[in-house]
Amino acid sequence: MFIAGEWIEARSGATFEVTNPATGEVIGHMPDGGADDARDAVAAADDAFAPWSTTTAFHRADVLMKAWELMNERAEELARLMTTEQGKPLKAARFEVGYAADFIRWFAEEARRLSGQWLPSGRPDQRFLSVRQPVGVVAAVTPWNYPISMLTRKMAPALAAGCTMVLKPAEATPLCAKTVYEVFTDAGVPPGVINLVTANDPAPIGEVFTTDPRVRKLTFTGSTAVGRKLAAAAGASLQRVSVELGGHAPFIVYPDADPENAAKGAAALKFLNSGQACISPNRLYVHRDAADAFVNMLTKRVAGLVAGNGMDEGVGVGPLVNDAAVDKVAAQVEDARSKGAGVPVGGHRLTENSLDKGFFYAPTVLTEVTPEMTVYREETFGPVAPVVVYDDVNEVIELANDTHYGLAAYVYTDSMKTAIGAFEALRFGIIGINDVNPTSATVPFGGMKDSGLGREGGHEGLDEYLETKVAGISLR
Ligand code: NAD
Repeated sequence: MFIAGEWIEARSGATFEVTNPATGEVIGHMPDGGADDARDAVAAADDAFAPWSTTTAFHRADVLMKAWELMNERAEELARLMTTEQGKPLKAARFEVGYAADFIRWFAEEARRLSGQWLPSGRPDQRFLSVRQPVGVVAAVTPWNYPISMLTRKMAPALAAGCTMVLKPAEATPLCAKTVYEVFTDAGVPPGVINLVTANDPAPIGEVFTTDPRVRKLTFTGSTAVGRKLAAAAGASLQRVSVELGGHAPFIVYPDADPENAAKGAAALKFLNSGQACISPNRLYVHRDAADAFVNMLTKRVAGLVAGNGMDEGVGVGPLVNDAAVDKVAAQVEDARSKGAGVPVGGHRLTENSLDKGFFYAPTVLTEVTPEMTVYREETFGPVAPVVVYDDVNEVIELANDTHYGLAAYVYTDSMKTAIGAFEALRFGIIGINDVNPTSATVPFGGMKDSGLGREGGHEGLDEYLETKVAGISLR
């Protein structure tokens, strides 16, 4: 763990194993921290807050730019570690490191634009000044599916704003977190400003993060169930809260879209990170007129995907995170099959060629999916593309919005009118229009309803770490 500028063991001396999900091999050990370690980390961040928050924004921008340079220099090493620890194919890991580095550069640039306002008063002898200041110590909890970019998306704006941090990474991917911390400390982030607590049992750490009065903000990315619990605890402490949670993205193919082009987009998007992405499409609504062409192309593309160890050339789909994830996917597919879904490709666990040592499920297409099936409502977080055929273009938005999630949605159409109408009516925070990658460090990312609170990235991403302060000045 990294506390007050030192790499240390847990107070208890305990450690936990980190494994490769493609092979089951143990690839490292990390300190198994507890509540006392979390409190030490909070104390270090609290001590470091006064000196760090009073550095100039120009200085913080320079440190972040150095971190961006170092992350780019170490990109290949980071990507290889990510594939070994998290499982995604090396090409996807390289892409993620680039995305992670983009957040650092973006917020380095944004730091220099931190400004206030000179505001009018109704009194001729009064002036108002408003400034934005860092909220204080930030507690961050991050997931395993994007084990580097989910850290920089929180660390870069927090540091740019002048906050100090404590962070607990997912227990499946602490080695990636360690290397991200090395990047930032080598770039010159002073001792105590960023602290890392690793743990196999996250609950005691989460409790300290959400109840210690020195922590002023909680930022969390992960499941809706855990996010809701932590946000409630943080709310009771009146901490600022931003939570990026689960999703259940609709992917709408209108009858005027090229169905084969849409199917190629769906195949590329759905199987990224083996479907373990919060913006992964979970309901593909295809108009009846386009359905045959769409399903044929999707099935062809999915049948051509090679699942395996992400380090191997040609592998397009890696393992799932653990056995429970494979079981969840298998249960959803069985439920759909038993209720009448077709399975033109996939639909089983992969065990041949040593894949039984890891956590693999075959890339799968489900057809004739209906609202009675679990997959229609619950996030799959696995390599399954459920196709729902619809008839009425006037009803499809209502179908798409019929979910308690609200993160991402996708629309394929050749009509500008249809595209803008869908963009405005969909109750989701991120809409891809004929586009399967509607994210960037430069734009706000986040969801509505049970998909979360707050935004990361864009100008909004910095606001989450700032507090507004106002001065009324009398000229009398
Ligand atoms: P998870 O909620 O189980 O774990 C996320 C993090 O929370 C991990 O670090 C875990 O250790 C920690 N955690 C779990 N219980 C905790 C507790 N009681 N106290 C403190 N920390 C606790 O989720 P996951 O399985 O790691 O991630 C998958 C989920 O994350 C999916 O639902 C996915 O949609 C979501 N996700 C959302 C986004 C987004 O930006 N909206 C991005 C990636 C993943």
